[in-house]
Amino acid sequence: MRERAYFDWNATAPLREAARQALQRALAIPGNPSSIHAEGRSARRLVEDARERVAELAGAHRADVVFTSSGTEANALALTPFIETASEKRPRDWLFMSAIEHSSVRAGGRFSREATEDLPVDADGRLDLAALMQALTPASRPLVSIMLANNESGVIQPIAEAAALVHAAGGLLHVDAVQAAGRIACDIGALGADLLTLSAHKIGGPKGVGALIRARNDIHFADPLIRGGGQERGLRAGTENVAGIAAFGAAAAAAVAEGAGEAAAMLALRNQLEAGLKAITPQAVIFGESAARLPNTTLFALPGMKAETAVIAFDLEGIAVSSGAACSSGKVQPSHVLAAMGVSPALTQAAVRVSLGWATTERDIERFLDAWRKLGTALSKGRA
Ligand code: PLP
Repeated sequence: MRERAYFDWNATAPLREAARQALQRALAIPGNPSSIHAEGRSARRLVEDARERVAELAGAHRADVVFTSSGTEANALALTPFIETASEKRPRDWLFMSAIEHSSVRAGGRFSREATEDLPVDADGRLDLAALMQALTPASRPLVSIMLANNESGVIQPIAEAAALVHAAGGLLHVDAVQAAGRIACDIGALGADLLTLSAHKIGGPKGVGALIRARNDIHFADPLIRGGGQERGLRAGTENVAGIAAFGAAAAAAVAEGAGEAAAMLALRNQLEAGLKAITPQAVIFGESAARLPNTTLFALPGMKAETAVIAFDLEGIAVSSGAACSSGKVQPSHVLAAMGVSPALTQAAVRVSLGWATTERDIERFLDAWRKLGTALSKGRA
């Protein structure tokens, strides 16, 4: 296969070398972490080492990390009326979430539709804090879910401000940090979050592993999703995915050690890409451009372009980009994120997401811009 340039890191990142090695080492250990013999203890050590590393990425205590099968499952575990704290044992009545959350949050967990309410964002894709404040006033014991950074636009949300409002109303704040981890700081304490979701495959770990992290050990789930053998302190039954968890830990350690440097490099390349994009097609719109964004994400559109056609045309040029969010069904859905930002349906249909990662090079950017020079104008006229 000829050389390709991968620009779909928000869909998934390649496995980091340290994670691959951790995965392979762990696969060679036969024990079950719940067994007390030497093999079991070896497996347990891998899980607990990984817990320490994932906790470090989130600035949390290791005992407050619950491993799950994905970011999706971590979100589903978090979103329940039956979260108890030392001072509040009664069920939460309301779930508030931003209108731009990932589908796994939008599904609402174990809250009914009637008890779930969307909060608007502004034209840059940032949560409307005044709307949050208003929503919280009459509500009782709310749970609020706001992502740290959006997967489509990369726009960073005002979490610390939201946390202050939520806590003043006696609520709890869940933060989906799946896209933010490894790219910007996600210290659970600094953010003011009560619960934080991470996913291994966005930071260079394997697919199919995630974590829900609690800010304090008095936060308890009275209705865990999966009951059984009591693993993960009773919050997530099932024999642990030891190899996946070990590799998640290795990826988290790499993100802690190298994330800031990688982010600076990505930002320089992303800025180069956006400058080139605008020079070639000045009519291109970059969504959320004036808001704080992840250093690796550009969501843009060219009036008249069809995103699916653009994705295919780029693919034929050896370049992987995506049209908005990756969609498991293969069907392209109109972006709820752009709709919430008030973008017209016509422009929404033209939106292409380009996301970079630690392995992105200047050569990749040049290849993207060469392809865009060739495709851009033709695509806006429906001729690519
Ligand atoms: N949350 C956000 C913001 C995401 O972008 C994703 C995946 O794209 C998820 C949650 C789900 O994570 P996972 O793929 O591990 O289920």
